[in-house]
Formats: sequence, C-alpha cells, structure tokens
Amino acid sequence: MARKLAAGNWKMNGLAADLAEIDRLGAMLPDSGCDVLICPPATLVARMAERAGARILVGGQDCHAASSGAHTGDISAAMLRDAGASHVILGHSERRADHAETDAAVRSKALAAQAEGLVAIVCVGETEAQRDAGRAVEVIASQLEGALPDDPALLVIAYEPVWAIGTGRTPTEAEVAQVHSMMRATLARRFGAAADGVPLLYGGSVKPANAAQIFAIADVDGALVGGASLKADEFGAIVSAL
Ligand code: 13P
Repeated sequence: MARKLAAGNWKMNGLAADLAEIDRLGAMLPDSGCDVLICPPATLVARMAERAGARILVGGQDCHAASSGAHTGDISAAMLRDAGASHVILGHSERRADHAETDAAVRSKALAAQAEGLVAIVCVGETEAQRDAGRAVEVIASQLEGALPDDPALLVIAYEPVWAIGTGRTPTEAEVAQVHSMMRATLARRFGAAADGVPLLYGGSVKPANAAQIFAIADVDGALVGGASLKADEFGAIVSAL
C-alpha cells in the first residue's frame, strides 16, 4: 500500500506574510496519518521549511535537470534540498504549456531530483480536446512512458486533467478510477511489486466538499491541490478527509 499524501501547490502565489497559513495548518493537523506537503514558490521554500515543523513537508514546483551551471533563473534539485525541500513537482501542465516541457525533459528533471534524494511528483493529464476525442488514457500512458524516472521509492504520480485545473469541474469517479488503474498497471510493468508503494494523486478542483468522494476511489492515494491549498482551513479540511 502506498502512503497517503495531501499535497498543496501554491503555484505563483505567496509572500512572506502568507507563511502564517503554515502555522494555522500545523495547529489543525493530527499527529499521524497521511503525509502533508506544501510546495510554495521557490522564494518561500527555505523560510517555510524552517517554520513548518516535522508534520508539514515542503517541496519545490520545478527544478533543472543539471546539477549546476549557466542556467539563469533556474534552480537545481540540490538547491531545493539545501533549502529544506523533500519533494519537487515536475511536469505540471502549466509548465508543459508555459515552458514547452516535454516528457523527456520531465524525465531528466525527475532523474536529477531523485539523484539528490528528492521525491519526484510527476504530473500527467489530458486536455479537454484529448478527452473529447476519447484519447485520455492513451495520452496519459504515453506521458508516463516518456516521463517516468528510474526509482519507484522516490516517486509520486499526479493525475491532473488539464480541463479540471482551476475550473471547478472534475472527471466522474469512473473516469478517475480508469486512469488510476491504468497508471498502477503501467507502474507494475515498469517496477514490479514496488509499484504498489507509489502514491497516485488526483489533482484538479479538489475542494473540502468533494475530497472525501475523490479519496474513496480505488487507487487514489491523495490529492495535489491548487487553489484550496492556499488557505489553512480549506486545506486542513481536505487533509482530514484523507
Ligand atoms: P486547482 O486545485 O486550483 O484546480 O489546481 C490543481 C493543480 O493544478 C494542482 O497542481
């Protein structure tokens, strides 16, 4: 069984004053149960990691495939680890769209992250046009084939349908179950029995109101939450549902 994980992706939101949400979240969380992770913008990783305490893990939202060098504006996996991060989100659809990240680039970044001991959260998901064309499962399988790194012990997969991100729309339970079951089978072909330990997250318009329903779906081990992770009371309610 994979460990359960509630992950928050703050995207390009958050200033120093917003670190107070971490204090509030920490005060709401039970001592045990699922892992809780917040991925703030890079500027807040170190300060959040210092402030979060052991119960809240901190992650990055991207890293470069190289360990150092002439890459203005980028950060390496070693820098994230040095700042106190344990995880890094890779291949989010916003990075694929805004920065033309390919599956091969995502795999290179994931290899770099794992080489530094970071857990790579590899994101996959279809566009609305791809789902309407009946190609969702095929697209996600191909993204996984191209982007998966080599170590299943430092791996999380997040299924985020692009059309469900920030829209208030979600796939049906059957659609989520179909994708997650395919992802588990793909991981099993690649990693054997270790595939069972890889947490599979759903992401896209997860809210306190729909979290319990989503977490009840087979092979859903947690969520990657955008908007609802910015406020401690909303994210705390999602963690409680897990
Ligand atoms: P929302 O929860 O705001 O839909 O965002 C999901 C997401 O993209 C998390 O990475």
